[in-house]
Amino acid sequence: MPFYKGFSGHIKRIFKQCNIECVFSVANKLNCLIRLGKDRLTNGLNMCSVYKINCLICNACYIGQTKRHVQKRIKEHKSDISKHEGCRSVVSDHRLNNDHDFDWQNIEILHHESHLRKRLVAEMYFIKRHPEAINIQKDTDGFPVLYEPILRNI
Ligand SMILES: [Zn+2]
Repeated sequence: MPFYKGFSGHIKRIFKQCNIECVFSVANKLNCLIRLGKDRLTNGLNMCSVYKINCLICNACYIGQTKRHVQKRIKEHKSDISKHEGCRSVVSDHRLNNDHDFDWQNIEILHHESHLRKRLVAEMYFIKRHPEAINIQKDTDGFPVLYEPILRNI
């Protein structure tokens, strides 16, 4: 139970008479007050995310993940088209091969997760949930087999 100065001692004595040991916790530990690492951007909703970009013309979509600000990653997707052939992403290939473009203004945020491994699993999960995703097969190679039955039952 939480420790309150001047009160917890009395409680402990009362419980001790009943042979019950009290364990107290401190409500405000230092790690609650001190934050380590970089300051978060004010729009934290768009960081450490799994996102979905939809094609404006067909049902194709691309699902990706980033720990950075999603808009920064989207800018990279947009500018990737200027790279040399063979170095381009599947998003650029879809744009060039089909003369389609993606809806850059309405990026869907599918999930937030700060832990990298969990975010990668979430990305793979969403790729598998969207048969129209143009992601390459390699993007889901690490999907834990353990989750396959869960996917089939959704
Ligand atoms: Zn398309």
